Amino acid sequence: MSIAYLCLGSNSGDSFKLIEQAVSFLNMLEQTSIVRTSALYETEPWGVKDQNWFLNVAIEVKTKLSPQDLLVKCQNIEKTLGRNRQNETRWGQRPIDIDIIFYDSEVINSDFLTVPHKYMHLRAFVLVPLLELIPDFVHPVLKKTVSQLYDDLEDVEDVCLYGTRQHD
Ligand code: ATP
Ligand code: CA
Ligand code: CA
Repeated sequence: MSIAYLCLGSNSGDSFKLIEQAVSFLNMLEQTSIVRTSALYETEPWGVKDQNWFLNVAIEVKTKLSPQDLLVKCQNIEKTLGRNRQNETRWGQRPIDIDIIFYDSEVINSDFLTVPHKYMHLRAFVLVPLLELIPDFVHPVLKKTVSQLYDDLEDVEDVCLYGTRQHD
C-alpha cells in the first residue's frame, strides 16, 4: 500500500460539483481509498492570470495502484467529467484537473509522469491545502518540508478558504 497526494482543480462549469464528482470517482477506484481531504479553496489563477479563479483541494489516498496506473485512472476521471485537452491552452481554463503531487517518497521522471509534481513547490494553491495534511513531509528531491516550501514562496497567488473570498 502506498500513500499519494493529489491536487484537484477546476475553473469552468460547476466547479463545486465537478470537484465533488471527481472525489467520489476517486473513492470508487479499485485498490484505492481516500484517507483525508483538505478544505476547499478558491485560488487566483497561476501562470495564466486572465481567467476564472479555481477551486482546489488536496487529497490523501491509500492505493495499491502504481503511480502510472493512478495517473491513467485520474486522466480517465478527467475525461469522464468533460475534460478535452485538445480544446485547451496551457494552464488555461478546464473543468477538472487531477495532478499527482507526491507518491510516497518516490522520484519519477518519465515522459508521462514527473513525481513530485514539477511545479508544486511554486504553487500556493498546492502548498496551502497540502499544509493542512502534511506540513512536515519532506520533498524527496528538494529536501524541504511542505511548510518550508511554503515559506520559500516568492510570488504568492491568493488562496482563500472556500466562501471567504472578498470580491471587488
Ligand atoms: P501542470 O502539469 O503544470 O499542472 P496541467 O495540469 O495543465 O499542467 P495537463 O494538460 O493536465 O497539464 O497534463 C499534461 C501532462 O502532464 C499529462 O498528459 C501527464 O502525462 C503529465 N504529467 C507529468 N507529471 C504529472 C503528474 N505528477 N500529475 C499529473 N500529470 C502529470
Ligand atoms: Ca495541473
Ligand atoms: Ca494535470
